[in-house]
Amino acid sequence: MASMIPFIDLATQRDRIRAKVERRIAAIMDSGAFIMGPDVTELEARLSAFGGMSETLSCGSGTDALVLPLMAWGVKAGDAVFVPSFTFAATAEVVALCGATPVFVDVLPDTFNMDPAHLAVAIADVLAEGKLTPRAVIAVDLFGQIADYASIRAVCDAHGLKLVSDAAQGYGSTRDGQMASRWADVVATSFYPAKPLGCYGDGGAVQTNDAELASAMRSLRVHGMGSDRYDNVRIGINGRMDTIQAAVVLEKLEIFAEEIAARDRIGRRYDELLSGTVTPQALPAGVVSTWAQYTVKVSGGRRDAFMAAMKAHGVPTVIYYPKALHQQTAYRDFPVAGGRLPATEALCTEVVSLPMHAYLDEPTQDRIVEAVKRSLDTVKAEAA
Ligand SMILES: *Cc1c(COP(=O)(O)O)cnc(C)c1O
Repeated sequence: MASMIPFIDLATQRDRIRAKVERRIAAIMDSGAFIMGPDVTELEARLSAFGGMSETLSCGSGTDALVLPLMAWGVKAGDAVFVPSFTFAATAEVVALCGATPVFVDVLPDTFNMDPAHLAVAIADVLAEGKLTPRAVIAVDLFGQIADYASIRAVCDAHGLKLVSDAAQGYGSTRDGQMASRWADVVATSFYPAKPLGCYGDGGAVQTNDAELASAMRSLRVHGMGSDRYDNVRIGINGRMDTIQAAVVLEKLEIFAEEIAARDRIGRRYDELLSGTVTPQALPAGVVSTWAQYTVKVSGGRRDAFMAAMKAHGVPTVIYYPKALHQQTAYRDFPVAGGRLPATEALCTEVVSLPMHAYLDEPTQDRIVEAVKRSLDTVKAEAA
């Protein structure tokens, strides 16, 4: 068997930033400022500049970043928050954690992102039923691709709903040069190590232009603190980010724009080389994706055989996501708009992600593309 290509190569980037990260971590160890140290403050300022929003709170994870705005808005039992089902569990989990009801909406079969037309139908259904109060929408930038926020924002505005961008995978992705911050009330991201902008542990950030919301989230992040840490004015969480993790993100943020450009080049090269073979996640005109995953569709029940053939060629592949959230044990009792999500359900049987990271060189990418072509031939021959 050929040597295995890494699915994500974090080592090349680590070697590139190692000396700078080690210097920062040594300074933190010397100072003892492990919690809310100067690197945390510096990171928040840098992220505000990068993301184009006036307020940034670093926090303990991407999940914290999603739950904080919902808590600050007082989202509670009896409220509906509209989310895609073709996403990571955290997107819907935070709604349920607040006691509210996630309402699952379908995605578009080509971009894999929230279908604005289906969102409108879902809101109308909830209003017609009269049991839940629509409060917010959480759109996901799936696999690194910015959602269609202009359309989603219009639907939100028609009903007075808040809009959260779950940018855990797509932080920094743009449409016509604009990030999600152009349309969303809140942008939430994760620094989980495998995300396009990661740290060396857990971390996240939440951004907004709403100073009042930011102030409530700042309180909630530290046990609902008031004028000082032993004055508690709200029920909050321990949602702080470690100083050491902030130091890591600071060094990665330094090279992030360059890495996004590399990911953009590599993603487009995949699209070009794979044209006429498998169908990749569609990239609309004007969109720059951060390509958290490079994902293609292999239909007709051939996906398992395709993945086995790829493995035999030394190319790892992963399925994101084999099961949609509305099909999961924990979420199957929550409402599904229209009763079924045909695009989501089809994607779960078709999608498969190929190795993708900012340091994927052309010879390795050529080897992966060759493996895709050969694996498709193998699968076809087996089916014949
Ligand atoms: C990773 C991820 C999260 C959660 O981030 P954590 O830092 O792991 O809590 C939320 N939403 C999406 C879409 C994600 O991919």
